[in-house]
Amino acid sequence: MPDTPHAGSARAKALASGDLPVNALPLVDSKRGRALANLGVTTVGDLVRHYPFRYLDLSTVADMRTVRPGTEATVVGRVHDIKVKHPRPRLSITEVALVDGTGALIGVWFNQPYMASRFRVGERVAFAGQVTFEYGLKQMRNPFVERLDEEADGPDIARILPVHSATEGLSTNWTRRLVSEALRMAGDIPDPLPSRIRLLRRLYPLGSALRSIHFPETSADADAARRRLAYDELLAVQLAMALRRQQHVRDLPGYAHSTGGPAVSRLAQALPFTLTSEQSAAVTAVLGDMASPHPMNRLLLGDVGTGKTVVAAHALAACADSGTQAAMMAPTEVLATQYARAVGPLLDAAGVSWALLTGSTAPAQRRTVLGGLADGSITVAFGTHALIQPNVVYKHLTLAVVDEQHRFGVQQRLALRSKGGSPDLLVMTATPIPRSLALTLYGDLDTTYLRSRPKGRGVDHIVTRLVPMSGRADAYQAVRDAVAAGQQAYVVCALVDESDALQAKAATTEARRLQRQVFPDLRVGLLTGQMPAAAKAEAMERFRAGDTDVLVATTVIEVGVDVPRATVMIVEDADRFGLSQLHQLRGRVGRGDEPGLVMLFADPKTDDGRARMDAIASTNDGFELAELDLRLRGEGEVLGDRQSGVPGLRLASLVNDMDLLEMAREDAHAILESDPALTDPRHVPLREDTEKRLGAVWEWVSSG
Ligand code: ADP
Ligand code: MG
Repeated sequence: MPDTPHAGSARAKALASGDLPVNALPLVDSKRGRALANLGVTTVGDLVRHYPFRYLDLSTVADMRTVRPGTEATVVGRVHDIKVKHPRPRLSITEVALVDGTGALIGVWFNQPYMASRFRVGERVAFAGQVTFEYGLKQMRNPFVERLDEEADGPDIARILPVHSATEGLSTNWTRRLVSEALRMAGDIPDPLPSRIRLLRRLYPLGSALRSIHFPETSADADAARRRLAYDELLAVQLAMALRRQQHVRDLPGYAHSTGGPAVSRLAQALPFTLTSEQSAAVTAVLGDMASPHPMNRLLLGDVGTGKTVVAAHALAACADSGTQAAMMAPTEVLATQYARAVGPLLDAAGVSWALLTGSTAPAQRRTVLGGLADGSITVAFGTHALIQPNVVYKHLTLAVVDEQHRFGVQQRLALRSKGGSPDLLVMTATPIPRSLALTLYGDLDTTYLRSRPKGRGVDHIVTRLVPMSGRADAYQAVRDAVAAGQQAYVVCALVDESDALQAKAATTEARRLQRQVFPDLRVGLLTGQMPAAAKAEAMERFRAGDTDVLVATTVIEVGVDVPRATVMIVEDADRFGLSQLHQLRGRVGRGDEPGLVMLFADPKTDDGRARMDAIASTNDGFELAELDLRLRGEGEVLGDRQSGVPGLRLASLVNDMDLLEMAREDAHAILESDPALTDPRHVPLREDTEKRLGAVWEWVSSG
């Protein structure tokens, strides 16, 4: 009985766009309307997109005699008996006994006496849920109930029932009926995806996908529906990313640097080593971008110790040759200072002027630096967020190097950009994110990977060992041996998930304990994120200078700290860290000529914890670990707050939908290639759909 809504065209339009309020559905009264609102469902369109979170497969029905307690199952039978018991004043138990040819099973509901009225003795019903065994009977508590049509013996039972999240005042059954009603009302759902792409990718039409995700014929049907809808989510993100990227390339005027000048070649000659072939390729890519009149937007991904810094140094020198300026921004003062220390001498050798500007730069020095940046006499500025404060003015900033991108928000990236017209942007990250995440989070950037390390350096000559509680004494002895050999050690103790203050407290206590009880004869230092900047710098300086033997630290040392004589690291409560974070941490040792030893103090209580500890001990490949981390911890965890930067991924999985992601990325690029602003009538629905999905992010993206 298909009935077309006969109201005016405003209603028809609202219906087509899915904006019609849910209470326009005949089944929705104000109470159900409120219940739906609690689920975040206010329009018919929302209801259509209220995907089931699982399915009940009525096509595989178990016998009541053989079905095993403790398993999830679906049984079908006739209602034999309905009882409501009142064993105690405020307790009611409803019991509905079903029988099939093999045995019986009881559905049990507590304090829902109205359930009794839902059944008639003799009718055919399906129960689905967890089977339990109590008082000699097989039971299901709060089973999912499906009342089966009398005539529908046979094929109709072979159905897959969706289970939608329900809420107070709105049962699963009702939610399913409402979704079904919404789909019926929505009628022919227009498909914003050009049919050319849909056919090429063998994807369901949108209408079929929406119907099949809710009411699939088979599980293959449900899968195909999910794929189509997941593809849409990924395409929206990729379109947004590609659009943003393209805007930078096409629309913004960039600066064409001179990249073959004397400063670059002097810098190259001043290097104490030969670049690896990957480093050379990265330098070529970066300088190529810089020479082009379009703004560079490149991400340099490389595990700890792969030598990203020296790649960036070439870019800085190119600014000197071009008579412009560069800013290299780090997330912490420690790291900014280290850049200045590592790259400064190379720049000196190349005849390039530079300065360091951080929150703790003394006022007089600060004035000098600000003056130099404003009049152009300083070419390169190293620093922290201080570099993008409003009072910092550059004469002609044409390059921004941002390190450890994941610590910077979009806002900071934009602020840095705003310091120049549209300076070239080189983002470096040592977080070896899986490709799926890179494509999603940084889809607007060109990417260059450094996969190998300069010979005999970094994690490749680190041994990682798991140490149980009983192994502590040996571990401390290893620290002593290292110190006796003129080396140094880190002890990382961070209470993951605890506040900075609590972490600092734990580290402080541990430092005191180690100094008093374990290493009374050694010099134990402390570095926490809570210490004043000057104290942090001093602690770091003492460690670097070799005046501290054992540095107890929180994860502030995770990012980029480079002390070649530090060879041993102990990580307390290692099983509470993410794999990527542990990997970052261990990259702090073995940075000099001596091999590194990392001892993870861990007592994993879960399989997951053990799996992670085994993984970190068995491989030094950060990318492999990142993939594993993603699998073990799930994307929400790994993405953390970055997930808020990738809205709209409800069905798509960055772990399992890699193929869809690659397709979506290719398609987004192809579409924008032919129609840069999505103004072609064939693409307008797609643009509108993307805008709707991504909301605020889309605005951010299209405003550049
Ligand atoms: P990351 O990628 O972690 O930032 P760095 O740039 O800090 O790595 O480099 C790690 C160490 O390797 C530094 O001490 C650096 O001087 C050294 N290094 C970089 N490139 C080479 C190379 N081609 N040969 C030898 N050592 C190198
Ligand atoms: Mg680095």
